[in-house]
Amino acid sequence: IQQNPGEKEFHQAVTEVLNTLAPVIERNPQFEKAGLLERLVEPERQIKFRVPWVDDNGKVHVNRGYRVEFNSAIGPYKGGLRFHPSVNVGIIKFLGFEQIFKNSLTGLPIGGGKGGSDFDPKGKSDNEIMRFCQSFMTELYRHIGADTDVPAGDIGVGGREIGYLYGQYKRIVNRYESVLTGKGLTYGGSLARTEATGYGLVYFTEEMLKDHGMDLAGKTVVVSGAGNVAIYATQKAQQLGAKVVTMSDSTGWVYDPEGIDLDVVREIKEVRRGRISEYVAARPNAQYHEGRGVWTIPCDVALPCATQNELDVEDARILIKNGVKAVAEGANMPSTIEATEEFQKNGILFAPGKASNAGGVATSALEMSQNAQRLSWTFEEVDQKLQSIMVNIYHQAASAAKEYDAEDNLVLGANIAGFLKVADAMMAQGVV
Ligand code: NDP
Repeated sequence: IQQNPGEKEFHQAVTEVLNTLAPVIERNPQFEKAGLLERLVEPERQIKFRVPWVDDNGKVHVNRGYRVEFNSAIGPYKGGLRFHPSVNVGIIKFLGFEQIFKNSLTGLPIGGGKGGSDFDPKGKSDNEIMRFCQSFMTELYRHIGADTDVPAGDIGVGGREIGYLYGQYKRIVNRYESVLTGKGLTYGGSLARTEATGYGLVYFTEEMLKDHGMDLAGKTVVVSGAGNVAIYATQKAQQLGAKVVTMSDSTGWVYDPEGIDLDVVREIKEVRRGRISEYVAARPNAQYHEGRGVWTIPCDVALPCATQNELDVEDARILIKNGVKAVAEGANMPSTIEATEEFQKNGILFAPGKASNAGGVATSALEMSQNAQRLSWTFEEVDQKLQSIMVNIYHQAASAAKEYDAEDNLVLGANIAGFLKVADAMMAQGVV
């Protein structure tokens, strides 16, 4: 904490992981001698840079760009770019740190990294977004590469931004390579990447419920967020017979007791880039409320899919009182440590984001494989692989929890299973 003052989200993420690794260190004293944990919490490299850009009125703005290359023990750094005004080094470090374990859990050869900028894409014209992305890549390009560091999207970075970033990278290096994932389908993207995080979250949730004698079909689900993860989690949950009744954005939330009409949400969010408040115009029986509040709606399953620390201990208590059976994180670290503990204390099934939202990065790694082979797999092929990866992640986390006498503690299980592979690779590669 003294070495990294003010990085509160990073401290939170590290505390959560270190709290669960003590039994592994006890069983493996060689890790302590090798300074493994000290090395693990220190990024291999942190890059911070100026991003100047010109708005449509000719005024110059300056934002900060970041890329934290956290750990490359098991593969090239891999993790998204976030464009949001709240971005700072502590947030990028927390995301990069989590990414190490998540990527390890996918079973694919990818290390951990994350990046972004405090740029706010909201209200900007397409040309402003393009100029910002070009300026951002004009510095970032020298640090990344298909075998070095492969960024993707995250909050505020979707298909449009990846396109502009990729165009500028290719223009500078004069190589057509798999340096970004989440690319459009006409220039190397993978089918099912757009859907992957949300679909993967629901595949994971379904497996977790099944393992405890329950089924997603017929369940009432509350979802927060209305972005990429929230939309495709809602779609897959509906396809599997669940009823999703809420969605939200940073301004407010909607409750639709008849079940969310996803076509309406997609038109608002993906086509018009509008606000969730517009939902009620098309669905008069639904309610719109300003602020936050999705967790007050009674449900069987809660899927937080917006942002970090959006579900606190008070929200957890309300969900529990209302009979929630399972909580699975689509966002990264949406539950506070106290909220997580409250769920666990009360026997609620709880899936941490680093396990349950790993479908996005897993499919990004599948995009890298397709690019390397110069092939495109079908939607069904990618979706099938995604599904088996998510089922496998659930069972890895569940069995690690059992092995360490903490049955059903998927936080501990995911941390340990993710850590062990990285730890073995770091031990084998010496003190680097
Ligand atoms: P999007 O930008 O597509 O959507 C984010 C959603 O969350 C929007 O509805 C946004 O509302 C809301 N939101 C963002 N910040 C806040 C905030 N501070 N308070 C309240 N609501 C907020 O992002 P994604 O769907 O891609 O990402 C959502 C979460 O999932 C993030 O935690 C991300 O790290 C995680 N994730 C994403 C993956 C992916 O493949 N995209 C992979 C794994 C994890 P508004 O529009 O008003 O800002």
